[in-house]
Amino acid sequence: MDVDIVCVGFGPAVGGFLSTLSKRLVNADGTPVAESAAMPGLPPQVLCYERADDIGFGVSGIVTRARALRASFPEIDQAQISMAAPVGEEKALYLLDPIGASRRSALFRAGDATIRAFKWMLPVEHDALDLPWTPSFLHKTGGLVLSMGQFMQWVGAQVQSVGTVQIWPGAPAAQALIQDSQVVGVRLLDQGVDKQGRPGDGFMPGMDIHAALTVVGDGPVGPIGRQLDARFGLPQAHHLRDWAVGMKFVVDLPQDTPLKAGTVLHTFGFPEPEIFGFFYVHPERVASLGIFVPSWFDSPVRATYRYLQHWMLHPYLWRYLKGGKLRSWGAKTLGESGLRGEPHLAGNGYARIGEGAGATNVLTGSGLDEAWLTGVQLAEAVLELLKAKKPFTKENLEATYVKARRASWLETEGRVAEKSRDGFQKGPLRGMLGMALAGLTQGRLTLASQPLQPWQRLPTIEDYFRGRIAPEQIAKIRADCKAQGVSLHAALMERAGWPAIPYDGQLLVSHQDALLLGGKVQAPPGYADHVFFLYPELCRKCGTKICIEACSGQAIAPGEDGGVPAFDREKCVHCGACLWNCSQPLPDDPERMNIAFGAGTGGLHSAEN
Ligand SMILES: Cc1cc2nc3c(=O)[nH]c(=O)nc-3n(C[C@H](O)[C@H](O)[C@H](O)COP(=O)(O)OP(=O)(O)OC[C@H]3O[C@@H](n4cnc5c(N)ncnc54)[C@H](O)[C@@H]3O)c2cc1C
Ligand code: SF4
Ligand code: SF4
Repeated sequence: MDVDIVCVGFGPAVGGFLSTLSKRLVNADGTPVAESAAMPGLPPQVLCYERADDIGFGVSGIVTRARALRASFPEIDQAQISMAAPVGEEKALYLLDPIGASRRSALFRAGDATIRAFKWMLPVEHDALDLPWTPSFLHKTGGLVLSMGQFMQWVGAQVQSVGTVQIWPGAPAAQALIQDSQVVGVRLLDQGVDKQGRPGDGFMPGMDIHAALTVVGDGPVGPIGRQLDARFGLPQAHHLRDWAVGMKFVVDLPQDTPLKAGTVLHTFGFPEPEIFGFFYVHPERVASLGIFVPSWFDSPVRATYRYLQHWMLHPYLWRYLKGGKLRSWGAKTLGESGLRGEPHLAGNGYARIGEGAGATNVLTGSGLDEAWLTGVQLAEAVLELLKAKKPFTKENLEATYVKARRASWLETEGRVAEKSRDGFQKGPLRGMLGMALAGLTQGRLTLASQPLQPWQRLPTIEDYFRGRIAPEQIAKIRADCKAQGVSLHAALMERAGWPAIPYDGQLLVSHQDALLLGGKVQAPPGYADHVFFLYPELCRKCGTKICIEACSGQAIAPGEDGGVPAFDREKCVHCGACLWNCSQPLPDDPERMNIAFGAGTGGLHSAEN
């Protein structure tokens, strides 16, 4: 099929692109702004393919200053967007360890002891220090609390009501079509194949969509973006080494909750010093809350779900959550390389936007507005080129889209943020100091150090638990878990002092229940597996098997094949965490690891995350 513009992914970046473009493809007098090359006589034909089964199945926080969003919708009425609220009270909280199981350095423990000793004169309650001052760059004053799912459904309705562009959910793009060095469109995923991709009954090869411009907005782990990175490389000194796994619950708070819509709580310090948490309150007693497990957290059993439950049980948060009920659950990778992970933003026939194009601000923890702005900037550039009848070449896209991006607040603020998190490579305290330095000096001072891949820094399980669990106990836990076909992290965490989770069937539910009740995870048959292990021999000799421990959906489990894990598509939430949670680099490319994450269907079926 031939169209003029094809978009991959319907996240905030493509939302910004289509919101801007769709309104201006036809002039006020009804004439097209330019003639379609694919269908002469008509306005440019624009299609968007979204992988997930609906357009509101994404996962995010969200609290945002909404600067770019408000510029697109100056009359925005948040009452029209379900779950939206203006930002009210904002707090940053340092959570003390009430259990004694957290892996804290001596400095952290000394700090905790000091806070406890002086709690009579400090704003400490329920084992949390309410930071009396936080730098202004962290504030979202005047912004909005949103649900990603509800927000994207609203954006989708705005875009589709104009009638000039089409959005197709449930349609993953499998690969970019590249001729010489020109991207000429995308190929959709084959249907009617077995798990290995072999044609079966009802085989339908993925359709080729040819387009003069391919807009790549497939997020931080999108297969099309990564294909382009592999083909065209990254700009010199750029790399994708900083990530976090974000996992969240959407919760009905108890009837008598004192929390007002718009309340924003940010936490750090617990369950481990490296783990950040967020708690945002929507209207009608609903809250979005969750944690980020970052790439610099050196645990080889970094089980996000288990840590999320311990975080919820922290006394400061649990007093608000006790009696609440799970509505929805989800997980997704957050690309945290920022500008340093920026790929080539444009090439012949393609442009990159959003988080996969280095837009996220790692200092302010803000990605939605930045992604949106890149989409708007590209749409303005596309309209300019269409009107001037200029082709979508690298040169023309750089002279318009990339130029506008470089001249905007996105670039200025991205430069301030670029090295702001490097301190975390040497520990959480240096990390916080580095962030404060970078923020307060506008990026002039940083605690720079080179980010490493998890496989370069992860200790063995024995080393990580040294002094807490004896190697022979670890060997026994390994053997027991292998016999049961389960991951090690629950047994190891409990042996290291973390209490068992007191399941209540409402909010504290098993990981499987979160998948089924909260995530409503599904995978339609007839598609190939999208997660696979590239070199099985590397898995066979791999000791940590961190892919199993870290999998957000328990979709990767110990396998039958002599140490090669097994993948179950029906549990995969497409978070992408496995991509970087592998302890073995590829022999020919140490920037990549032994797991492949391709285009796939299904996943989460909740529009509230
Ligand atoms: C838990 C969590 C909390 C967050 N909190 C905040 C916050 O409070 N404030 C904030 O500003 N930001 C927050 N972020 C970051 C923010 O969500 C992202 O920066 C933003 O969503 C990026 O938008 P995007 O359009 O670039 O990518 P995405 O939102 O990732 O969208 C990409 C889309 O492409 C689709 N896609 C992927 N592959 C394909 C394919 N092959 N074919 C078709 N479609 C495909 C995906 O399904 C997805 O819908 C958070 C992120 C997470 C994970
Ligand atoms: S995918 Fe990576 S972490 Fe998992 S078993 Fe294989 S080599 Fe080990
Ligand atoms: S297998 Fe699926 S659920 Fe598990 S980490 Fe990978 S993408 Fe996430």
